[in-house]
Amino acid sequence: MVDKVIGIDIGGTNLRGALVNKDGNILKRMKISSRADQGIDELVDNLAGFIKEISEGESVSNIGIGIPGIIDSKEGVITQAPNILNVDDYPLRAVLNEKLGRDIHFVIENDSNSAAVGEWWMGASKDVNSMIMLTMGTGVGGGIILNGKLWTGDDGMAGEIGHITIYPDGARCNCGNYGCLESYASATAIRRMVREGLEDKSLDTTLRESTKNVEPEDIPQIVMEAASAGDDFSLSIWLEVGKALGIAIASLVNLLNVEMVVIGGGVSNAWDLFIDATYKEAHRRALRAPMERAEIKRGLLGDDAGILGSAYLAFKSDNEKKS
Ligand SMILES: [Zn+2]
Repeated sequence: MVDKVIGIDIGGTNLRGALVNKDGNILKRMKISSRADQGIDELVDNLAGFIKEISEGESVSNIGIGIPGIIDSKEGVITQAPNILNVDDYPLRAVLNEKLGRDIHFVIENDSNSAAVGEWWMGASKDVNSMIMLTMGTGVGGGIILNGKLWTGDDGMAGEIGHITIYPDGARCNCGNYGCLESYASATAIRRMVREGLEDKSLDTTLRESTKNVEPEDIPQIVMEAASAGDDFSLSIWLEVGKALGIAIASLVNLLNVEMVVIGGGVSNAWDLFIDATYKEAHRRALRAPMERAEIKRGLLGDDAGILGSAYLAFKSDNEKKS
């Protein structure tokens, strides 16, 4: 009987994880730099060292790992992870078993799927049976829980809500398509909108000065502060973000009639600046009854959503092995 597992969330910057018990309590947590930009070998070495350190003195046989990218969760393979690594069809589970022993069972899942499971297990949608989670970060991730189970699709790749088309002739997305939700509601999208707006020299905005010489990852926060201070252009960016989310949510709710839509991720810190537009757009477009049914809520777990979701999936895989 497994009573403790490790849940891990791998990002482009940080590798975070925790030892978690059956009740979803975090017993011990750790965070190191992922160094994903150094390549997959470096990342996997870091990951193996991380697992050894956090499991020291504990007997842990199940480990869940969330990674941003297209993951073949059945095979434990990273099919594609363009936002952190240049790898195709990388057999992560097999490599980790090689490094850490065959007796550890690894569950590898897309990070947004893990976050959805985390919010459903311990966070905003604890008591619901069906939910959709949108994670607004560098990109827009998605996860779908139906009838109390993560919907992974036939190959484990379902839930790529960030890549559904919102505007047919819209901005180009990293995936190659045009007008994806991710191109309108992510940190990357906000940076694009700022850049394009500032090309108009007659535009009057405080961002012209405040975004000079800053790190690109700080821009969403600056746009949030400027909007809160009343900068019209910054406010219009958040309205654009909110509207795109609302268009996506209307279709998702029409399609799946879920009880709840949870929105999380770092960019969702600007909640008060975009959520009214999201709500308005979703209700304007969706069928009345399923939209009235679907509650739109902010995620509660922050960075722990992915860790707890990975831990839950690690527990669950143990039950499945035995049944
Ligand atoms: Zn896309």
